[in-house]
Amino acid sequence: MSAYRSNLTPGWKKIAFRTMFVCTLSMSGPAMALDTADMMAQVDAQLEQHYAHLDALYKEIHQHPELAFQETATAAKLAKEMRALGFEVTERVGKTGLVAVLRHGDGPTVMVRTELDALPMEEKTGLPYASHVHAMWNGRDVPVAHTCRHDVHMAAWIGTAQVMAAMKAQWRGTLMFIAQPAEETGLGAQAMIDDGLFTRFGKPDIGCALHVVPAPAGVVIYGAGMATSNMDSLEIIFRGRGGHGAAPDAAIDPVLEAGRFIVDVQSVVSREKDPAAFGVVTIGALQAGSVGNIIPDQAELRGTIRSYDLAVREKMLAGVKRTANAVADMAGAARPEVVIGREAAKAVVNDGAISARTGQLFQSAFGKDVVPATKPTSASEDYSAFIAAGVPSLFFGIGALDLTVFVDAKSGKPIPSNHSPYFAPLPEPTIRRAVEAMSLAILGALQQ
Ligand SMILES: [Zn+2]
Ligand SMILES: [Zn+2]
Repeated sequence: MSAYRSNLTPGWKKIAFRTMFVCTLSMSGPAMALDTADMMAQVDAQLEQHYAHLDALYKEIHQHPELAFQETATAAKLAKEMRALGFEVTERVGKTGLVAVLRHGDGPTVMVRTELDALPMEEKTGLPYASHVHAMWNGRDVPVAHTCRHDVHMAAWIGTAQVMAAMKAQWRGTLMFIAQPAEETGLGAQAMIDDGLFTRFGKPDIGCALHVVPAPAGVVIYGAGMATSNMDSLEIIFRGRGGHGAAPDAAIDPVLEAGRFIVDVQSVVSREKDPAAFGVVTIGALQAGSVGNIIPDQAELRGTIRSYDLAVREKMLAGVKRTANAVADMAGAARPEVVIGREAAKAVVNDGAISARTGQLFQSAFGKDVVPATKPTSASEDYSAFIAAGVPSLFFGIGALDLTVFVDAKSGKPIPSNHSPYFAPLPEPTIRRAVEAMSLAILGALQQ
């Protein structure tokens, strides 16, 4: 096993930190005082012993990615791991989700979430354990890869569960580890809630989740307030009238409608919403026709709409719809089929008190590796569904990339981020830091 030391602050363990936890445990009598350094030493001792297993698990999950609501093998793998750690595991919560509970006396219930799903896209990292898996998605055979790196989250989730099970002497309460399906479609969190997550297993006092981000490996990014954006999916079918490519006058061209829409919809962003407010419309998929000399009957678009402010969101949704209808009217075509929000997620908003308290622990433990988040990311997360259901939470980021990536960026090479086919985290420093940070967040929450 190779020994990880942070890229940014070599020898961080020597940092003199002494943030005191003082906890009164209702079950075990005398109050216990622990400090961050002691806790981190215990967490790291566990990691030292078990990291090789996490590495193997991570690479195995990476090589066998599964799409939203198809994550049966992945869920079964995690269920087996959690049972071996002594958790009581319930499978098929929210179709393919998993709930693993560890009760250890009176105390708060802390929920820790990982996602299970991968993305319908090709991986181009060239890693020896890169994915070559294909699956069916929307009626098409597509490559599948963990390019959002939920594989890192799963390895860290198991690693954290292992640490917490081994450190039982340091806490009292209930751990509720959940593995959520279909995060990428924005439907999985709600599916678990609708399947009785909080009525069957109890409502947690605090929730935690993390996501790897394109920052240097080992960096921890956190902040109070809004952490991610609102997301609404967009699907449009422009209806035309098919015909010969040489006789467009006898046809209605839906490809032209789609092309015009793709360009014009950007004026909703640039001309209609408050220019100082965040808003994005992206069309990521366009399907139409089969050959060059046939005008097809229809053109199908799929996109995503992102915002922070709800009024901006409403304005953009209305503008997108109006633009689609106007484009069809211009072509003399029938009104298009516009579906907005089949997949949707509200912004994740972190709890101020949890964020401040946990942030202090992060600062004590990781020093210069901790970066306060100054603004929300434009990405979205359906973790917000758990917050909306009444679980005050902290959602934080873990840097995942080799420092050389940032050196290369100075000469113009783009930095690969989540959903890029080239996004390749450094496994060991990323997974270790994720386990350290999540363990610390849970231990802190359980002292409340
Ligand atoms: Zn993603
Ligand atoms: Zn993700």
